Amino acid sequence: MRDDSSPSSPATPRTRIPAGAPADSPYALQLERGFPGLRFEPLLEEEFRQVFQAESRPQIRRNLWIALVIVIGFSAMTHLVLEPVVNLLMNKIRLVMFAPILALGLVLVRSGLYQRYYPIVCQVSAPIFGAGVAVLSVIAAGHGVNLISTVVIMTIFIYFMLGMLFYAALASASLVTVSYLFAAVIARLDPAVIVVDVGVLLSANVIGAIVCYTLERTNRTNFLEEQLLIETASRDGLTGIHNRRYFDDHMDRIWLQAIRDQLPVALLLVDIDHFKAYNDFCGHQAGDECLRRVARSLTRSARRPLDVTARYGGEEFAIVLYDAGREHVEEVAQRIQANIQSLAIDHPASPQGARLTVSIGAACVQPVAGRSHFGFIQLADEALYAAKERGRNCVVIMDKEYEQLSTGSFRKKPSDRRSAG
Ligand code: GH3
Ligand code: MG
Ligand code: MG
Repeated sequence: MRDDSSPSSPATPRTRIPAGAPADSPYALQLERGFPGLRFEPLLEEEFRQVFQAESRPQIRRNLWIALVIVIGFSAMTHLVLEPVVNLLMNKIRLVMFAPILALGLVLVRSGLYQRYYPIVCQVSAPIFGAGVAVLSVIAAGHGVNLISTVVIMTIFIYFMLGMLFYAALASASLVTVSYLFAAVIARLDPAVIVVDVGVLLSANVIGAIVCYTLERTNRTNFLEEQLLIETASRDGLTGIHNRRYFDDHMDRIWLQAIRDQLPVALLLVDIDHFKAYNDFCGHQAGDECLRRVARSLTRSARRPLDVTARYGGEEFAIVLYDAGREHVEEVAQRIQANIQSLAIDHPASPQGARLTVSIGAACVQPVAGRSHFGFIQLADEALYAAKERGRNCVVIMDKEYEQLSTGSFRKKPSDRRSAG
């Protein structure tokens, strides 16, 4: 099917990317590229499927109960209109094919195995269940009762009620139609009846497939847009790196994780030296560009999977390192300074030299239950202050000071403050 890109289509990618969205975001790239064939690139596809499945779970649970009620309703109906011997055969099929599948579905949808196994179980069970419905319909037709509507209901169920993605639903529903055709031919139903019934089922398939495809396109587009909005809200508009909000959330999470794992965390506050003078001399635009270059350089300096670089505010950046002892912090700080040096940004207004430099204050602690991360951030702030006092373009790391730190009494007694650079 065509990847519709008309301006009014819900799948129109270009108009849906919010201003300020990170250009390197996988969600933005996927929206730009489109997704003909209803497939994202592998990692996003996996993420989408997990989210889709988790979100469909309550509806699937409800719909399986609806299926049970429908099965009971139709068996009561056939008991009224068909002879007991036919009903006995139909009940056997219901008991052998429907009962275990419905029971399995209802248990699975409540269990911890749901995320992992539901799609495959559904992919196998839905056509089997559907084939059972088709066989019952053929048996009833052989006794003068037209139950093709039950196969249509089954087809609709597969497309819309079981949380199946388009291709899986298309394959399952098509198999149900094919099962009906086989069963009808084997049972030697009147060819005219077969033609009409298969026509009805094909129509149900075409309608189901078109609507299911359109729904999935919309679902996928919504997923990308939502994720992109979340990502955009956590990014700094100027530099594209994480913003203060993300930093705060990350700090909450990582602090608790470090307490659980009993691992040290480090925070480096990186502040550009004499940046006001840079702005005043080179202009605000040049200042903005300088911030972007410094931000890019910082993200290159801390690249372990759990490392987070954020714009803390103004010309100050924060780098959070997980499971980082003092030695690692020293190493990262040196790398930062070397990388900034290699940017070789001219700073003609600097009272200290011709090039732009940064000061780094770092705190390195082992989080313990009962202490919040506020003291930790304060320690890094104190270290940065000390680096500035030392003459800038240097690194001060504090760790042991954490024990004596009194949260909230920042710089009250400068003479008491000890630095360990
Ligand atoms: P120090 O070496 O002590 O850090 O001095 P400083 O001049 O870097 O620090 P100060 O806090 O006096 O000035 C920070 C400057 O950063 C002032 C402000 O104009 C500039 N700044 C903050 N945010 C932005 C921004 O988004 N773009 C630009 N161009 N400048 C910014
Ligand atoms: Mg500064
Ligand atoms: Mg500053």
